[in-house]
Amino acid sequence: MGFLSNKLQRTQIKPGHHIYTYRAVFAYSHHGIFVGGNKVVHFTRDPHTSSSSNTSLDVMSETPTSCSTYPDCGFRQPKSGVVLSCLDCFLRDGDLYSFEYGVTPTVFLGRVRGGTCTTAVSDGVDTVIHRAMRLLQNGFGKYDVFQNNCEDFALYCKTGLLIMDKVGCGRSGQAASVLGAPLAALLSSSLKLLIPSSAGVATVTAGMYCMSRYASDIGVRRDVVKVGVEDLGVKLRWMDDLKEDESI
Ligand SMILES: [Zn+2]
Repeated sequence: MGFLSNKLQRTQIKPGHHIYTYRAVFAYSHHGIFVGGNKVVHFTRDPHTSSSSNTSLDVMSETPTSCSTYPDCGFRQPKSGVVLSCLDCFLRDGDLYSFEYGVTPTVFLGRVRGGTCTTAVSDGVDTVIHRAMRLLQNGFGKYDVFQNNCEDFALYCKTGLLIMDKVGCGRSGQAASVLGAPLAALLSSSLKLLIPSSAGVATVTAGMYCMSRYASDIGVRRDVVKVGVEDLGVKLRWMDDLKEDESI
C-alpha cells in the first residue's frame, strides 16, 4: 500500500509543501501548494467558462461554497482558475498527503498509484511560494484535466518545469494513470488472444503501465523546460493557441 505512506498530520505541514487529498473515495486527487497561514493555493476549472470536454474528473466543483472561518477563503481573480482556500475547505474532511520530490526511480516505480511523487527536485520554499502567489494574481491558463490540471499547477510551483510538447498526454501522474487504464484494458484484450494465462496478461500490462508512467514523469522527460513565473503568461497563451489549432 505504497500510496498511504506519505500521509501527513496537520502539525507536520510546512509552507511550500505540495499537498493533496483524495476526492470521491480515491477516484481522483486534488493538489495544491500550502503557502502558510493555514492557506492553500490550488488550480481548478474556472467556474465561469464552460468547456467542451466533460469527463468524470470534472464533475466535482472545486469552488468552496461558503467559509465561515476565513473571509478571503475562495479568493480568485476574475476568469482565473487559481484559488486561495483555507486548509479545511481544501481538504473537506479528506486526509492530507504530501507529494514527494527527488525520489529514486526505484521508489517511483514501486508506487501503486500515479501522482504521489516525482523524481524531479523541488526548488526552495521562497521560490515555490512566490510562484504560487504570483499565479494566484496572474492565472495559470486554461484548466484541462489531461494537459493542465491541479497536479500540473503544483508541480510547476515546486519545480518551475513545464512540458512544451503539444502531443504529450499530460504532465502529471494523475493524467498518465487515467490514460493508462483504457490502454491497459485495450492491451489485455488483444494479448488474451495470444497468451492463454490470465496471470501473464496482468503482469505484462502492469509492467507496461509502470514504464509509461515513468516515461511521463517530469523528472525523467527530456522535453521539459524551466520557465520563470514572470514568463509564464506568454508560454501559457502559446500552449492555448496550439490547442485551438489542433481542434480545428
Ligand atoms: Zn475556508
